[in-house]
Amino acid sequence: MKTQPSASNPADMICVRGAREHNLKNVSVSVPRDKFVVMTGVSGSGKSSLAFGTIYAEAQRRYLESVSPYARRLFNQMPVPVVDAIEGLPPAVALQQQRGGSSSRSSVGSLTTLSNLLRMLYSRAGTYPAGMSRLEAEDFSSNTPMGACPRCHGLGRIYDVTEKTLVPDDTLSIRQRAVAAWPTAWQGQNLRDILITRGVNVDIPWKDLPKATRDWILYTKETPTEPVYPGRTHEQVLEAIKHGVPADYNGTFTGARQYVLNTFAKSQSAKMRARAASFMVSSVCPECHGQKLKAEALQVMFAGRNIAELSALPLKNITAILQEQSQQLKKQTDATGLAAYGIVEALIERLQTLLELGLGYLQLSRGVQTLSPGEYQRLRLGTQIRSNLFGVLYVLDEPSSGLHPCDTQALLKALHGLLDGGNSLLVVEHNCQVIRHAEWLVDVGPDAGEKGGEILYSGPLDGLKSVSRSRTRPYIFDEITCGQAVPLKPKEWLCLKNINWNNLRNVTLDLPLGVMTVVTGISGSGKSSLTGQALVSIVSKALGQKEPVEQPDADDNDIPEVAESAEPEGQVVSGLQNIRRLVVVDQKPIGRTPRSNLATYTGLFDQIRQAFAAVPQAKKQKMDAGWFSFNVAKGRCPRCEGVGSIEVELLFLPSVYAPCPECHGARYKPEVLAIMLNGRDIADVLNMSVDEAHEFFADSPNIAHGFDTLRQGGLGYLRLGQPATTLSGGEAQRIKLATELQKKRAGHILYVLDEPTTGLHPADVDRLTRQLRQLVAQGHTVVLAEHDMRLAAQSDWMLDMGPGAGDEGGQIVASGIPADIAKNPASRTGPFLREYL
Ligand code: ADP
Ligand code: ADP
Ligand code: ZN
Ligand code: ZN
Repeated sequence: MKTQPSASNPADMICVRGAREHNLKNVSVSVPRDKFVVMTGVSGSGKSSLAFGTIYAEAQRRYLESVSPYARRLFNQMPVPVVDAIEGLPPAVALQQQRGGSSSRSSVGSLTTLSNLLRMLYSRAGTYPAGMSRLEAEDFSSNTPMGACPRCHGLGRIYDVTEKTLVPDDTLSIRQRAVAAWPTAWQGQNLRDILITRGVNVDIPWKDLPKATRDWILYTKETPTEPVYPGRTHEQVLEAIKHGVPADYNGTFTGARQYVLNTFAKSQSAKMRARAASFMVSSVCPECHGQKLKAEALQVMFAGRNIAELSALPLKNITAILQEQSQQLKKQTDATGLAAYGIVEALIERLQTLLELGLGYLQLSRGVQTLSPGEYQRLRLGTQIRSNLFGVLYVLDEPSSGLHPCDTQALLKALHGLLDGGNSLLVVEHNCQVIRHAEWLVDVGPDAGEKGGEILYSGPLDGLKSVSRSRTRPYIFDEITCGQAVPLKPKEWLCLKNINWNNLRNVTLDLPLGVMTVVTGISGSGKSSLTGQALVSIVSKALGQKEPVEQPDADDNDIPEVAESAEPEGQVVSGLQNIRRLVVVDQKPIGRTPRSNLATYTGLFDQIRQAFAAVPQAKKQKMDAGWFSFNVAKGRCPRCEGVGSIEVELLFLPSVYAPCPECHGARYKPEVLAIMLNGRDIADVLNMSVDEAHEFFADSPNIAHGFDTLRQGGLGYLRLGQPATTLSGGEAQRIKLATELQKKRAGHILYVLDEPTTGLHPADVDRLTRQLRQLVAQGHTVVLAEHDMRLAAQSDWMLDMGPGAGDEGGQIVASGIPADIAKNPASRTGPFLREYL
């Protein structure tokens, strides 16, 4: 460490000694409790391991230990952060980016508790129809039996099946499984045999059956029990019954609709529920018209709107309406008026904080799982600021993520609000605008994984200037210039028109091909709606592509999604013939189970397994490549099923993983581990870093080339077997990009990326830019929605969205080469872009 200014008053410092979590190299660091502290370093350098894995984890442990002796017993089983001591640590609140998106089912309104206040407002100060008695706050909640619409149970939508979803191909006969929704295997045959007993012709195409028969099979609620004689025709069955031949068994029939609805509502298996969901469609509830509440609640008005209508407006508009009401209520002196005034003022105060954080375009009803991680974090931040806690340490992960440079100022102000309230602040950031604002900077590095994990600097920002090993320094003190001299000329254009989706209204998109395009605009202007959603949906549909994103297999824990009937509208007008395929490269995990890892995702593990199976000793014992897989029972450890660890469930807390007591983390049976390839067993190979594996497989050109591509992507430090679930979003994205670069796909690919720089240090962004440039050099097209002006300045073409957020945005306000956007007075991005040109 270069400089460590001696703290004037150590009581005001948080002091960490001997931290060794993950890649941290026994580091010690002290940060002030009353300053804006920012932690920097390249992706994988160890910032999160220090900020969240050590400091926050320890604060959390101590806090829970102090509240209950019961919790203490649980914590004896919890991993303790590897650190010698932490002094001066206040209780902490973490606002961390979710790896792989939030799975929460709550809405903006419930997360911020704004919905509670609104319900109170309608209950106490709403205008009721004459003769109706006052309702309780709960009567305005669709989550309570008192408030929910009785028809849709508060869902706002009705989920049901149609003949088309149950029987996707009506040219098939029942024997050919026309009723796709029926259970597979034996149960399906049973249902067919019951129909044979009942005299239904199961060998003619579905469409040729009489309508009454088709309807009965699909929709009947009767569950008749019939004798079943498998393998016989209807005539033979009748004959058998006549002669008193006993049936093989009695089978009970269930209509296809009943079967699907029952499975969706009641099955214990997530896979079964997901399968049932795939045969359902949803439509707006005809009774509440999607407003989710019972009729009475919807009759109560405030400012001329019912609660569903008011809640459906963007936060900005709700604020404006409440401000207007507040002016009038101020003059009232009766009890109702006073109560209303109090609630309205409380609402305005909370809303204002969210508007300042650039979230005014959100709606209360918006599902939390549809928010970007940055929006979600700012929402929680905005709620915290109002909670009036003090003496708390806030640990934040990249709060600027998803923010346009012109919104970042407001964020900084909000963060200062936390400090001014007597709290401490530790912010992990990559955004130079935020870093330059730091009163105290901790730089971790210099590189990722084992080549990082040191504290390079801790002190006031200026002191970083003299730290030669810092990767952050050059970007903060403008020692690195960027900018592409001459933007590439597009070869062709892809034209889309009449795009309608979220806030996009009849947008026309002209996208240059064979170049790199960056889509910019303030938060909520519609970048993701246009790029990540509409473009992807419209083009992949036009290309007849089912799944633009290569997704890992669905896991048993997934919540089944019912196909929403709504999807982006729009047509490709011209240029489609130039494109072979569309590929989305996102930051979603590369696998959802600890069994997936970078080796399995890239396909390199298949080749490694073959190399092991080719070892003479393996051949002698007839061990094929399957023996070296931890997804197949043959060779993996039966106790942990190839995971290497066992999940320990803790009450009320996230479960933790302990090493498998049988294989001690090796994942395989002893006979598999006995097979040696150049002196290493398969578990050794999984423990290698990409750098080591590259060297180890030097004699196998295909494998070595694969690992080399990963090294080029800056992933040389990752261990092959590191579970996919512990990789950061940035790491997952780079693995996907490296896999793409390695494939050398034939034909023109349209690559789409949504905010790919999230979680990336400027040095990582430069590396990413080089990789994207490489894709363009191979002849492909790259389109990304971005806030990073450094990256935008290096693009060939830009589309700037706006002018505002939500309903005030959704248009392409400027398009052209970066130099032209920088000069365009209509663009709010221009001024920020200029600095980088
Ligand atoms: P940063 O926050 O700077 O991007 P991290 O602290 O997340 O870096 O990671 C530092 C190193 O520790 C990386 O090599 C990363 O792959 C590794 N790492 C992070 N989380 C885990 C984990 N749960 N298990 C094993 N290694 C991990
Ligand atoms: P940006 O990417 O520029 O931040 P978005 O495309 O995410 O903007 O959002 C544009 C508008 O569309 C906003 O008003 C936003 O609230 C709305 N929106 C985006 N995604 C959804 C969604 N899944 N459901 C409802 N509204 C959405
Ligand atoms: Zn309803
Ligand atoms: Zn095991």
